Amino acid sequence: MANAALLRTGLLTAATLVVVPETSLPAQAPNPNARAAFVKFDAPVIALAHTRVIDGTGAPARENQVIVIRGGNIAAVGNAASIQIPAGAVTIDLAGRSVMPGLVMMHEHLYYTTGPGVYGQLGLSFSRLYLAGGVTTIRTGGNTNGIMDINLARRIAAGELAGPSIDATAPYLNGPNTFLQMHTVKTPDEARRHVAYWLGQGATSVKAYMQISREALKAGIDEAHRRGAKVTGHLCSVTYGEAADLGIDNLEHGFFAATDFVDQKQPDVCPGQAQGQQAVAALDEHGAPFQALLKKLIDRGVALTSTLTVFETLTRARPTPPGLDVLAPQLRDAFMRAYDRAQQNQQSVYSTLFAKGMALERAFAKAGGVLLAGTDPTGSGGVVPGFADQRQLELLVEEGFSPVEAISIATLNGARYLGRDARIGSIAAGKQADLVVVLGDPTKTIGDVRRVETVFREGVGYDPQKLVVSVKGQVGIW
Ligand SMILES: [Zn+2]
Repeated sequence: MANAALLRTGLLTAATLVVVPETSLPAQAPNPNARAAFVKFDAPVIALAHTRVIDGTGAPARENQVIVIRGGNIAAVGNAASIQIPAGAVTIDLAGRSVMPGLVMMHEHLYYTTGPGVYGQLGLSFSRLYLAGGVTTIRTGGNTNGIMDINLARRIAAGELAGPSIDATAPYLNGPNTFLQMHTVKTPDEARRHVAYWLGQGATSVKAYMQISREALKAGIDEAHRRGAKVTGHLCSVTYGEAADLGIDNLEHGFFAATDFVDQKQPDVCPGQAQGQQAVAALDEHGAPFQALLKKLIDRGVALTSTLTVFETLTRARPTPPGLDVLAPQLRDAFMRAYDRAQQNQQSVYSTLFAKGMALERAFAKAGGVLLAGTDPTGSGGVVPGFADQRQLELLVEEGFSPVEAISIATLNGARYLGRDARIGSIAAGKQADLVVVLGDPTKTIGDVRRVETVFREGVGYDPQKLVVSVKGQVGIW
């Protein structure tokens, strides 16, 4: 309300109006939330010299390279001997470092499990953590708030906030369910209207969920496709094979969410995630039923997103996940209690499922399927944006990919899926300068992806330390 309005309503009297002479005002303090607060390098021309380049295509790393960044793009990349560093460039000597493309991560969220069935909207802190971890593009894999993902996508794109580029999903497309933060669609027409409304609001992709019916999913997919958006799903009521036949573009969680192998599976009914997982854990990856599903998914061009990070937190005898110290203390404690319970649970399906899930994903990729990488910061917590994205790369290597293959899955594969590979996803002249500088050599030690020194997005270099410090102990509150 303006002062005049307050005066009219009697809430403010003339005596309380104090006029401060402008000269006595303190100098404007820099806004600690502005994008500029996290910038380390910003210049018309920047040259990254003496660096190892891992280009994201799966090709071997190249030593002693130069990358010239101009106007937000990669102007040139090549051998030190063949590239002339332009006069006036800010030159950064990166001896002992590696440069790889910014990560393109496909099952991210801007919310976190803050209580049973309660998803706290942490868009501001999460977008900083993603960027700090070397993630320059995310797709949110489902939205429990409505407009926040879309607003953040716009404000980051406008350069107002530090964060990754966001492919913002609409709120979940789901059938009858008991989630407090989830809408229900019962009919194909409701599914069409849900998708049309949210894509109209600015969402750029759609995530279907566990209780959707086949006919509502089909209507949602058709509406999304008509409007140029893709659909992914964490399914249960609909099997992977059925969803592939309905035209879905992507399935989440590798094969961990498949209900195709549940005995007596009723159409359109979720038998419970646990039922599905018991059946998947018992699968033979060389057997006919799995091979038939593999063939169908590959034939229909359905991509699969690996989210090993969230399942690792539920599996016994695995290390504590990285990044817990940025969480608000109560959330850190809550996760550690869940972690301890998982350590004691000898009967957990994950003791066989985790390794089986890896073997199935690997078989899918080996047979020619498109594997994408994501993290899924949900479950019982502990999947911390940025840190978990780096962990996901380590887990893909554990799954059997070489480090350059794992990096390619987490960069170029995602960019291709998003239809943005002409601009992002690999290091090549003409592409957008989305680059991660890490100390060491991830092609020898994948864990070096955790040693991020600078993250460039659209040619601006961000300081990961400053980004992390700005949210430390606060993640869970905002
Ligand atoms: Zn998710």
